Amino acid sequence: MSKGLPKRSEDYSLWYNELVKKADLAENSAVRGCMVIKPYGYSIWEKMQAELDRMFKETGHTNAYFPLFIPKSYLSKEASHVEGFAKECAVVTHYRLKNAEDGSGVIVDPEAKLEEELIVRPTSETVIWSTYKNWIQSYRDLPLLVNQWANVVRWEMRTRLFLRTAEFLWQEGHTAHATAEEAKAETMQMMNVYAQFAEEFMALPVVRGRKSANERFAGADDTLCIEAMMQDGKALQAGTSHFLGQNFAKAFDVKFATKEGGLEYVWGTSWGVSTRLMGALIMAHSDDNGLVLPPKLAPIQVVIIPIYRKDEEFEAISEKANEIMAELRKAGISVKYDHRDTHKPGFKFAEYELKGVPLRIAIGPRDLENGTIEIARRDNLTKSQFELASQPIAEKIGGMLEEIQESIYSKAYKFREEKTTEVNSWEEFKEVLENKGGFVSAHWDGTPETEDKIKELTKATIRCIPLNRKEEAGTCVLTGKPSEGRVYFAKAY
Ligand code: AMP
Repeated sequence: MSKGLPKRSEDYSLWYNELVKKADLAENSAVRGCMVIKPYGYSIWEKMQAELDRMFKETGHTNAYFPLFIPKSYLSKEASHVEGFAKECAVVTHYRLKNAEDGSGVIVDPEAKLEEELIVRPTSETVIWSTYKNWIQSYRDLPLLVNQWANVVRWEMRTRLFLRTAEFLWQEGHTAHATAEEAKAETMQMMNVYAQFAEEFMALPVVRGRKSANERFAGADDTLCIEAMMQDGKALQAGTSHFLGQNFAKAFDVKFATKEGGLEYVWGTSWGVSTRLMGALIMAHSDDNGLVLPPKLAPIQVVIIPIYRKDEEFEAISEKANEIMAELRKAGISVKYDHRDTHKPGFKFAEYELKGVPLRIAIGPRDLENGTIEIARRDNLTKSQFELASQPIAEKIGGMLEEIQESIYSKAYKFREEKTTEVNSWEEFKEVLENKGGFVSAHWDGTPETEDKIKELTKATIRCIPLNRKEEAGTCVLTGKPSEGRVYFAKAY
């Protein structure tokens, strides 16, 4: 059944948009670029948050909250930071409305002009470092390991549900350290936390890498990232972790007394992942029938659907379903019994397929007689009969959920490997990018000018310099100048 979804092979972008809406994840709002995240979509985001939050706390971080509004003067204190974000800032200039004298409606009250304009945070380094100035005096105050869950606004021109929105939800970690080494280690640690989350929970293989200077965060000395590949062969930056050097400490005059009695600027990091991860999750695994969710992030892992004609049958099936539910819940598996009599089983099958519920159990009168149930896997659309007496049901379902989690990961991994191509000439570079897509692993001379030129000619950018790349002398695909190793180019979201 197609559920009226366009096919990925025909129009990937339309398929994605329709899927997000039809699976009840999100919809556009009246404000361009802003979205409403619907309950089902938000449940997935909450699962992501819960796991990430646990991982942040395990690595010693605590949550705090900083204001939404940033005085304009703060933003301009770090020169490259403001330059990077100026183009996409929402600015608050007034604090009051009034009725227009001609009765035409409400207007901004010109007399209620703010003395200093406020920026709606595009990211919170400035407001946080202005606060850290008061929190940090001595080496005893370090390290400071803080995370914030919040919304931010970047006035993006080309938006797409989840992947790039004007307002998005995210977490931003902001840490302060006594030494550069410690801050660098933190930057690496958090990139690894993101990679582990993507791979273990989202079943999304990622490349761990470093951004080129062109793609670096505005205000950072170094940006580490995780890059994922979507089913259309385009890359997606899924998370970033920045080594800020002493840039923000200098901009906000944050110094600490060292053990030895000196006074030094603090070293910083910041790192974030956003609701873009929802887009990554959808784009990486779903198919023409709808969502495919990894069991570890699925709000409903198992749905039970009764199949019956007569009321007595329904009662007997419900009794069995309740037994199964109790067993599964005891094992920590989330399960829903959909006994609505307003919808036919076929409708329900299609609905849960569209919503990516990993396992569907169907129970009919014949199953009751035979002591069986039918279990259908969403990821590969296979069905099997299971004899209830043969194995505890929670063990069976738990095992299948693990298998699905692994199998979704392997499929995505295999796809990425197939779509990663080493090229050695400019002709090959263009040909692979045009006809095959994916990551193109090529030599680059290391200059921003060549990167810009390649982007201009092909729309491909350097996604990252993989951290695990081998040293390999070569020559740049475009300029023929010497190169120390390959980098990943791709067209990206
Ligand atoms: P940054 O602060 O630019 O390093 O971004 C932090 C995280 O937010 C990264 O994982 C980005 O992929 C993500 N992100 C950046 N811009 C957007 C946007 N417009 N919509 C959703 N996520 C975004």
